Amino acid sequence: MSVLKTYRGVPASEGIGIGSIRVYGYIDILSTIPSDCKAKDKSLEEAKLSRALSKYKDYLASLKRVLPPTDWELLDAYELMADALVNEAVEEVRSRGVCSELAIKAVYEKYSKMFRESGSELIALRESDLKSIASSLVELVSGERAQGATLIPGSVLVADELYPIDALKLARQGINGLVTRRGGVTSHVAVIARNNDIPYLIVPSINLDEILELEGKQAIVDSIEGKLIVNPSNDLIEAYSARLKCYKRLKEKAKRYAFLRATTIDHYSVDVLCNVGNVEEARIASTSGCDGIGLFRVEFLYMGNKPPSSDTLLNVFHRLAELFKDKPVTIRAPDLGADKPVPYIKLEEQNPFLGLRGVRLLLEYRDEILKPFLEAYLSVASRVNNLRLMLPMVSRVREVYEVAEIIERIGERLGVKDPSQRVSLGIMVETPAASMMLDKLAETSYVEFVSIGTNDLTQYVLAVDRTNARLSKFYSEFDPSVLRTIKITVDQAKRYGVEVEVCGEMASKQYAVPILVGLGVDGLSVNPPVVGLIKYTISKLEAKELKNRLVTRLLNLSESEEVLSEVKKYMSEKEIETI
Ligand code: PEP
Ligand code: MG
Repeated sequence: MSVLKTYRGVPASEGIGIGSIRVYGYIDILSTIPSDCKAKDKSLEEAKLSRALSKYKDYLASLKRVLPPTDWELLDAYELMADALVNEAVEEVRSRGVCSELAIKAVYEKYSKMFRESGSELIALRESDLKSIASSLVELVSGERAQGATLIPGSVLVADELYPIDALKLARQGINGLVTRRGGVTSHVAVIARNNDIPYLIVPSINLDEILELEGKQAIVDSIEGKLIVNPSNDLIEAYSARLKCYKRLKEKAKRYAFLRATTIDHYSVDVLCNVGNVEEARIASTSGCDGIGLFRVEFLYMGNKPPSSDTLLNVFHRLAELFKDKPVTIRAPDLGADKPVPYIKLEEQNPFLGLRGVRLLLEYRDEILKPFLEAYLSVASRVNNLRLMLPMVSRVREVYEVAEIIERIGERLGVKDPSQRVSLGIMVETPAASMMLDKLAETSYVEFVSIGTNDLTQYVLAVDRTNARLSKFYSEFDPSVLRTIKITVDQAKRYGVEVEVCGEMASKQYAVPILVGLGVDGLSVNPPVVGLIKYTISKLEAKELKNRLVTRLLNLSESEEVLSEVKKYMSEKEIETI
């Protein structure tokens, strides 16, 4: 009998897919090229390269004929990259006398190293595009096939890694779900999956042997809760099929709400902002109905071998401000340390989550990290009107004063008038200390808004490591202790006229919406694909009733399970469709 197995994963494109597994594999053709491969006749090798390039362009053109124009941008970029790669490969043949395959590999390796060292997650991910092009060109010059693929429409595809160009082909053939071991939620593959409504889950814990053994097995890709279920029972498949039907219906409905203001039945408006990690995601978010950016995770720019240059920061901030024009764009100061370590700051701590992280780290490394960041931020923010600055992991009032003073000094140097008054400054409430001291933090007069980071707040209120999979049953944002902490935070913020939002994952959960709206938050910052769903849910609620009836009851419960079941009951009574 086949045994059911569940893998945890990161949803990169939301949805549910059911089907039998096909394993998609590559032979790494670049690694098979001998390092002493010489050109017997240089002009023959050059001719091979130019024939391979023109065949590759024909192939891209044929894909263009079958794919929608929305995908052409990627194909055009591939064509440009292939042109540049072959041009340099010709130079390699001429100058070093190597064969055309080795010439392509040498150019690929040169750029791949540069990409990796750039430190940009976005660029590092594009390295897989370059590898795909180089492999295809080598295939064409050597006449070999690099890919072994079994493509059956309706299947769940599992791969170690997938090239974007193959994702395009697969999307065209119609697959029900996609799972890869490697990849990123911001990769081209993720964008293609989202655009084509293919549930896509990244499962880093699955190993290569396990992938090969999956061929032909039944599977469910639950890219809402982040689960890959292999060998599910018939009952489970039936339950998921019913869920899938509801999900599709609700998704269609939610689309109609994405571009409307989110207002409850009793006219209480809630901003539905978005969480993004790079400019490309922000661009998608700007066309998804987001009322602005509630959290820009700038730290992705800091993940390389050194902090980003001032030009990179200026460019990113400008583009973000441009994309959203008069809607707010909240840039979080680099939240480094703990689960976001950087190689150039060696901390070696026993308890990194209780160590130097967030604003604490920024103040320790003020010359290396904080000041250059604030300089770039201030010089853009003083010329546009929609940027907001947010401090992560605040736990002491003095941290706000210290940052404000640095802002003041940098602002003066840049010729900005009243810098700390001009900067729209907010803090994240991620520690119980920030919640308890919110009155004092608000009294500093620097804090214009607070955003509750429920991912960390839950970890610190419950003393449960958010990254420890074994503890996941103890980690819940629906725990009454977390709800009480949020209530204290919101009440204090309101007392001091400070806007209050929630930007942790909780805000993207449909069952959390009645609670957070009932507690009185002004905004929810969510993942872009759920904007419509969250706005739909808000529009079906009545804020006064939530506050007086639901929330009071929830705050008196003892367990997160009870909270969830009460909310589910309430939403079903109100005939709110849920996923
Ligand atoms: C949070 O802690 O809720 C949050 C939004 O920050 P991050 O998940 O990036 O730590
Ligand atoms: Mg956090």
